[in-house]
Amino acid sequence: ALHKDTPAVSGRVRVAVRLRPRNSEELSTDADFADCVELQPELKRLKLRRNNWDSDTFEFDEVLTEFASQKRVYEVVAKPVVESVLDGYNGTIMAYGQTGTGKTYTLGKLGDEDTSARGIMVRAVEDILAETDSISVSYIQLYMETIQDLLDPANDNLYIVEDPKNGDITLPGASLIEVRNQQSFVELLRLGEAHRFAANTKLNTESSRSHAILMVHVKKSVGISGENATSKSHMNRTMKPPVVRKGKLIVVDLAGSERIDKSGSEGHTLEEAKSINLSLSALGKCINALAENSSHVPVRDSKLTRLLRDSFGGTARTSLVITIGPSPRHRGETSSTIMFGQRAM
Ligand code: ADP
Ligand code: MG
Repeated sequence: ALHKDTPAVSGRVRVAVRLRPRNSEELSTDADFADCVELQPELKRLKLRRNNWDSDTFEFDEVLTEFASQKRVYEVVAKPVVESVLDGYNGTIMAYGQTGTGKTYTLGKLGDEDTSARGIMVRAVEDILAETDSISVSYIQLYMETIQDLLDPANDNLYIVEDPKNGDITLPGASLIEVRNQQSFVELLRLGEAHRFAANTKLNTESSRSHAILMVHVKKSVGISGENATSKSHMNRTMKPPVVRKGKLIVVDLAGSERIDKSGSEGHTLEEAKSINLSLSALGKCINALAENSSHVPVRDSKLTRLLRDSFGGTARTSLVITIGPSPRHRGETSSTIMFGQRAM
């Protein structure tokens, strides 16, 4: 399929970097130190300091400073994916980065008191509902290769099914809730967050250790003439039977990318570390393969990548936002996040 704004860079993964503003702790304790990164948004460049004299420069599809609004982040990271979902394709939006750098703020912020703070999930559904009458939503958590339903905690061991005919991925037994307006979507997200908190308390883990995955199934009827609200083309006025376009949007708030201390002897720390490292490295391999237009995308290595299988490659669009903090104390984690983003391009 031809997309009007296919990025000039090669590959199908669009990568943006977003810098979180200094938090109050960093404002007081790092006050005398320069940030470890310097952004040049108009050049789409980021400089990572090595020391006081040297820095390395990286280019991204989009560089979002600490002043970038949620609206702008939505427009550059998510909107092209949302539009292609409305055109009947699948698409994925993911946030990758160290815990505390703004993944959930970027994707999942509800913005109850301040609508300008709303994140990508709420804005995406608002745009989709403006063009369709209803959508169906699933919301799950993937923790240690176990899939839990965040909309119905009783479903705590879901499995993935792949349709042998068309490759569609489904989760039999996962709640699939029809949503007709934005307010009920926000309530679903809130319910999901509460269940996530409860499930993680029970498992004695933190939400930063699991991936939260929102799936939005979109159906859009295209009129008799083949026209639709987004198409400005006058080429297609011949009579056609009505068609239903189906697309799926997946939004993934990934587990924190920080290395987990493998020496920790408490509880399931070692197993957790292995599991998170497995799924994030499997994801990294898949998006490298996509970026290189490789015909083989190794999706089978983890449940995370198996779930994303029908939203990866082919006509599907993928947008990755890597989130970083400014503190020189986390330079190492920031560097490895930047490398993950670079390999995806
Ligand atoms: P993560 O999900 O990556 O662990 P969070 O999204 O929870 O990180 O962000 C950590 C803290 O920083 C939260 O208090 C959040 O509100 C704040 N924060 C993150 N990004 C921004 C931003 N761009 N502007 C203002 N506050 C932010
Ligand atoms: Mg988070």
